[in-house]
Amino acid sequence: MKEIRRTKISEALKLTTFGEEVNLKGWVRTRRGNKNVSFVALNDGSTINNIQIVIDVANFGEEFLKPITTGACINVNGKLVESQGKGQTVEIQATEIEIYGAADPTTYPLQKKGHSLEFLREIAYLRPRTNTFGAVFRMRHHMSYAVHKYFNDRGFYYFHTPIITASDAEGAGAMFEVTTLDHANPPKAEDGTVDFSQDFFGRQTNLTVSGQLEGELGAMALGAIYTFGPTFRAENSNTPRHLAEFWMIEPEVAFYDIFDNMDLAEDFLKYLVKYALDNCIDDIEFLAKMYDEDLVARLKFVVENDFVRLTYTDGVKILEESGHKFEFPVYWGADLQSEHERYLVEKHFKCPVILTDYPKDIKSFYMKQNEDGKTVRAMDVLFPKIGEIIGGSERESDYDKLLQRVEEMEMDIESIWWYLDIRKFGTAPHSGFGLGFERLMLFVTGMTNIRDVIPFPRTPNHAEY
Ligand code: ATP
Ligand code: MN
Repeated sequence: MKEIRRTKISEALKLTTFGEEVNLKGWVRTRRGNKNVSFVALNDGSTINNIQIVIDVANFGEEFLKPITTGACINVNGKLVESQGKGQTVEIQATEIEIYGAADPTTYPLQKKGHSLEFLREIAYLRPRTNTFGAVFRMRHHMSYAVHKYFNDRGFYYFHTPIITASDAEGAGAMFEVTTLDHANPPKAEDGTVDFSQDFFGRQTNLTVSGQLEGELGAMALGAIYTFGPTFRAENSNTPRHLAEFWMIEPEVAFYDIFDNMDLAEDFLKYLVKYALDNCIDDIEFLAKMYDEDLVARLKFVVENDFVRLTYTDGVKILEESGHKFEFPVYWGADLQSEHERYLVEKHFKCPVILTDYPKDIKSFYMKQNEDGKTVRAMDVLFPKIGEIIGGSERESDYDKLLQRVEEMEMDIESIWWYLDIRKFGTAPHSGFGLGFERLMLFVTGMTNIRDVIPFPRTPNHAEY
């Protein structure tokens, strides 16, 4: 074949240099036609859009073209011409074709179109080839980049917190243990418990549930940091909003109080949603057409409107007085369920909501205590269709108050002494929050199951490909 530098399909579709020869490589989405002419819709992942390759059958022979079926990968040289068909402006008249890899139509799982999302979840290794998952995973990339750009442009430092932790006191959820001990025959201490001093790290370790505690150490030195990494929770909650392995973004900022923190969360979310609209509109429009016709309007609404801010106490009052029948009871002191959060957002305010000042007993030990002795400076951002998308707080910066809380909750001080100690050496007011990256992805893609916004979802009883 003639050596021509490859053009990505996203670029080729914009060309107007008709008559020029180009090289394209990609996977066949469909091939149709007749004895004389064959049309291939080719996709290389660079865009949701396919490019049409027109093949004069006589030039290649039917036998040669036979393996060019859905899923096959081909390398094409061809002449760029103005498209005759509707929809596209550009197509390619093939001059040379090399078949990189066939995909036997009798066994290729994506031979037919229109598979259910449930079926596609069973073939995670192939589903990026579909339009839907191509769109979602391209958007995942763009949103990751936007996260880094947002913080970098504002002087936040990307701070890498450990994935293996020795602090089991974060209270955010059940943890996965990391160990090299022999399952069948672990070393035992005299009292019969497992002797972790013989484990790899000389102590018991787990996969992190959050980078926050270590992130605070970064904020106490660099001023403003963020983490963006994988986090793990061993909760057996099989919901459309929970994964056992998910990605979290956690900014932590010195000298921020809860109001600064709310402003940051709102500005950050609006930036991300606007970034999606500005940079991923082809993919968004495809997903809107397929799954959710209100998607674009919902995204615009979030960008253009102020979030409602109110206290947990006022929120509970609204829920109690709503007359709505909830599956879980609602009363002051109850941990709000997604149905309650969504009622406030979707039915009552019809707008994203930031709820603050939760009862201390349903929130983490590190949140700053209010004067009332009952509530803490927590803030959760609640979104339409999602419920909680961000959880955050102003942190307790007073050593004695934090210690008191740790003791009240009978936590293991041994594993978080450093978290307490940082308050002894130049403590400062500070705040931060955690945004679940896949919850954000649910929102911007309009997908409804969190398993469909991460390439390889890990959930109870499922670590497949
Ligand atoms: P939820 O109440 O929804 O289970 P949480 O209060 O336990 O969440 P946090 O500990 O506050 O969650 O974590 C911060 C953010 O991380 C949440 O606001 C959410 O966006 C996300 N998140 C938490 N747990 C999960 C999970 N299992 N899978 C995906 N995202 C999650
Ligand atoms: Mn939370």
